[in-house]
Amino acid sequence: MRTIVLHDGDLVDGTGTDPRHAVDIVVAGDTVREIVPSRPADAYGTVDEIVDVAGMLVIPGLVNNHTHGTAYGPLFPSGHEALPHERVLANLDRHLLEGTTTVLCVDGFVTAEALARTDEAHPVNVRLASCNTPACLAAATTADGGGLTAANRAFTARDAVRAGAVALGEIGAGHTLGGGGASYMYIPDEVERRTGVRITPRQANGLKTAVLGRHISASAFDRDAVEEALAGAGLTGSLSAEDVREIVSGIVLPAFDIALRGLAEAAGQAREAGVPVLVHNAAASMTQVAAIARTDVTLIAGHSNHSSFELREAVEHAGRLKEMGAIVDVSTLDTFGARRLTTGPELLYAMFSAGVVDTISTDYAGGHHDPILLAIDRSVRAGVVSLPAAVAMATANVADAVPGVAPRRGRVAPGMIADLVVTDPARLHHVATVMVGGEIVVRAGRRVKA
Ligand SMILES: [Zn+2]
Repeated sequence: MRTIVLHDGDLVDGTGTDPRHAVDIVVAGDTVREIVPSRPADAYGTVDEIVDVAGMLVIPGLVNNHTHGTAYGPLFPSGHEALPHERVLANLDRHLLEGTTTVLCVDGFVTAEALARTDEAHPVNVRLASCNTPACLAAATTADGGGLTAANRAFTARDAVRAGAVALGEIGAGHTLGGGGASYMYIPDEVERRTGVRITPRQANGLKTAVLGRHISASAFDRDAVEEALAGAGLTGSLSAEDVREIVSGIVLPAFDIALRGLAEAAGQAREAGVPVLVHNAAASMTQVAAIARTDVTLIAGHSNHSSFELREAVEHAGRLKEMGAIVDVSTLDTFGARRLTTGPELLYAMFSAGVVDTISTDYAGGHHDPILLAIDRSVRAGVVSLPAAVAMATANVADAVPGVAPRRGRVAPGMIADLVVTDPARLHHVATVMVGGEIVVRAGRRVKA
């Protein structure tokens, strides 16, 4: 059995407790064997490899409960055309280089067989969730459905749980509930088809909000706001306010009510199946999400810092959900980097400051998600959360919230599977080394093949 020692590092073990300084972590095979105060390297005469991690921070491999484009099969809960396999593997590479060793793919229509093929092709542990309940399938078919094969349609959420799916999700999505997916994909696509002009996600979001409001309602139409948004997007003269109303309403509304119904339906099926339900929590779905929280299913309120919320609204909503026993998740979205839809970290910081956050994920953000460790780095520096607490939110808390997603993972302790990340404490997102199941798969910040 191969033995590897991570020598002389500082450890934040995922449980939320204070860092331990200058320890050796001894990994035998795929398992952490012991954690001891650092010994001289020559005390380890016979081991296969000693990795000097002095001055570095060791944490558990991150467990990311909200990813898209991480398994072969239809993209998003709208059943969009699948990404090419190379792109899925590149997405997984990116997660791995960001320190994530387990992802829950919440695209929702992936089959168990396709998931298994993805998991075999990449060191990241890829886990299955399903959104294939009747209403969610109908919403996907209405909104898009371009990537749904007969096999995807036939593989129901109940089948998926029997085949090892660890959660139902993502229930509702930006693509079926008029959220980010409409703004970064469907609305820009349709505007471009009609005018030849490609608008940005933020411009599309402005048009959407002017037509339907943040909570998505046909009665929210505001002609002046539409004219203003048109001018902002440089489309005055190319499209009328009525055109925009027709485009936005035509994209968002047909699937919207069906997708809202899907929330309660999926929660009921998750309760029966004994798995958590992970929902799209946004201004448009918050009433239905709160209704689910009152029932006795394990509810994960995904990306509770969604950009459709106003700050106080999001924090108070999350607080109420938490009181009712829900697990409040925040996503990094494009908060620090691309900022195509998110305008900044204020809401994320406010959620941490209010003490309502249980888990941290990335979501997709149109392919522009920020690394979890970048969000943790900035948030710790901003003084809104402690490092051990934030690491727990991205590791042990996720493993506990979704029991099947990362058994024996998410903590660094003897007997746990050795999914480990070594990173720079001064720049947490500069990941140096990643180990999955006792094998080093990233060295010096680069993918290595075993
Ligand atoms: Zn979502």
